[in-house]
Amino acid sequence: MTRDKKARYIVLFGPPGVGKGTQTKIVSDAVNLPSVSTGDVFRANLSANTELGQAAKQYLTAGELVPDDVTIKMVRDYLEQPGYSQGVILDGFPRTLDQAEALIQMAVEFEARLNVIFIKVPQEIIVERISGRVICRACGQVFHQKFNPPPSPPGNCEFGGQCDFYQRDDDRAEIVSNRILVYHEQTMPLLKFFENKGLLDVLDGTQAIEEVTKTVLDILSGKTS
Ligand code: AMP
Repeated sequence: MTRDKKARYIVLFGPPGVGKGTQTKIVSDAVNLPSVSTGDVFRANLSANTELGQAAKQYLTAGELVPDDVTIKMVRDYLEQPGYSQGVILDGFPRTLDQAEALIQMAVEFEARLNVIFIKVPQEIIVERISGRVICRACGQVFHQKFNPPPSPPGNCEFGGQCDFYQRDDDRAEIVSNRILVYHEQTMPLLKFFENKGLLDVLDGTQAIEEVTKTVLDILSGKTS
C-alpha cells in the first residue's frame, strides 16, 4: 500500500485520570487527525459482546492490562486502515515496553513521525479527578463533577443533545488503586524508554484544560519541520 511519508503518531501519555481522554478529543479536532483510545475500544467491544470484548473482559474488570498480543494487534488493525494514513492521536497506548517497541516498529513501517507527550499530575489530584469523572454514553465526552461539570439540565449538551451520564465501573475506588499500581509497575518505565530515544515532551497537567491543549499544540507545532 502506498502511504504518505508525513504521517504523525502522537501519544498522549500518563497515569489514569490525567485528562488524556479529554485532550485527545480536543487535539484530534484541532490537528485534524483521528484518535484511538484503546480503553474506549475495549469498552465498546465489551458492551457489544464481541470476541475482542470477551477476551478483554476479565482484565478491564480487574483494572489489569489486556495482554500485549491482543492490544498490539488491535492498534495495528487501526493503523493499517487508510483513514489513519495521515496519523493518529493515541490515548492509552502504549502501556508496556513491548507495546512501545511495537509502536516504534509501526511508525517505521508506516513512515510516521512519533511524538510522546507525558501529562504530569501529582497522585492526590489523580484520585480526585477519577472519582468525580462522568462520561456521556451518547457522545463519549468526559466531564468532572467539580472541575468540568456536565451540562445541566442534561438535554442541553453542546455535543449532541441526548446526554446519558455514567461512571465507569473501573473508576470505583478499589479498582482505581489497582490501575494506578499497574501504571507504576508496567507503564512508568516507558518514560525513560521514550526519553532515551529523544521522543518525549513533558507538560504540566494540573493547568486548566485549555492551557493543557495550548501546550500540546505548541509542542506539536514546535516539532513540525
Ligand atoms: P483506559 O480507558 O485507558 O483507562 O483503559 C481502561 C482499561 O482498558 C485498562 O485498565 C485496561 O484493562 C484496558 N487497556 C486500555 N489500554 C490498554 C493497553 N494499551 N494495554 C492493555 N490494556 C489496556
